[in-house]
Amino acid sequence: MENIKAKKSLGQNFLKDEAVLNHIIESANLSKDDVVLEIGPGHGALTEKLAAVCKQVIAIELDERLIELLHTKFVGNQNVEIIQGDILKINLPELVASSQLLVHGYKVVANLPYYITSPIIRLLLETKYPPTEMVVMVQKEVAERIVAKPGAMSILAVSVQYYAKAEFLFTVFKQSFEPMPKVDSAIIKMSVTSNQQLVTSDKEKTKKFFRIVKSGFSAKRKTLINNLSNGLQLEKKVVEEKLAQLGFSANTRAQELGVEDWRKLVVLL
Ligand code: SAM
Repeated sequence: MENIKAKKSLGQNFLKDEAVLNHIIESANLSKDDVVLEIGPGHGALTEKLAAVCKQVIAIELDERLIELLHTKFVGNQNVEIIQGDILKINLPELVASSQLLVHGYKVVANLPYYITSPIIRLLLETKYPPTEMVVMVQKEVAERIVAKPGAMSILAVSVQYYAKAEFLFTVFKQSFEPMPKVDSAIIKMSVTSNQQLVTSDKEKTKKFFRIVKSGFSAKRKTLINNLSNGLQLEKKVVEEKLAQLGFSANTRAQELGVEDWRKLVVLL
């Protein structure tokens, strides 16, 4: 299998560290009732361990060269299904709705291709049938940004934390991969919060929420008051009053607000 040359363009950094693979499996805390969607199984190192502890693994891999290898590896293995495709192009709601296994709820466990980390996470959180939980490997710096707290928030952090509780689990050093990437990675857990279905069904509310968040973050150096009054065409005084109601001063910047603060602010604006 090592004959297949890793494609940088597909974010192929394969995990070769057995201890890390086991740590991911422990962190995912799976049982024989769990159905797992894996994105980018690669050579199937994680897939194999997932299959040993859960009910079914459904793995989506883009690289045709790896598909052949995966089919050979898992031939006769009833609880592994390999699908060739691009996670960003397949019709995920249709895949979930048409699968007796996925439709009753599923988890995502994956070592994500880094070049499309954010679009994949966004897709999974915003889709019609989201997973209940995701345990994924991302670049360490991205992991830190996703789990950020008020004071260091970004649009990415707000976007994830709007839908899920995000936790940093552990760092994975770059030496654990072949080929070795330039930076370290980390495993994060995102537990989709119970009101998620409700929120996604309320599309207008979600749209308004993100329109306001985006305008709040529009100019990094400017205060929230300036950004919001420019972006939403509101009097500065009005924005200042609303922020004061939430206990924030006139100098507050967007990165200081947590998701709950944004929720309250959106209701007031
Ligand atoms: N799971 C393997 C491991 O841990 O060693 C491989 C992880 S590697 C970081 C990312 C994998 O995602 C590669 O196998 C790559 O071919 C696959 N991939 C890249 N883009 C993809 C896409 N759009 N859809 C599905 N898989 C993709």
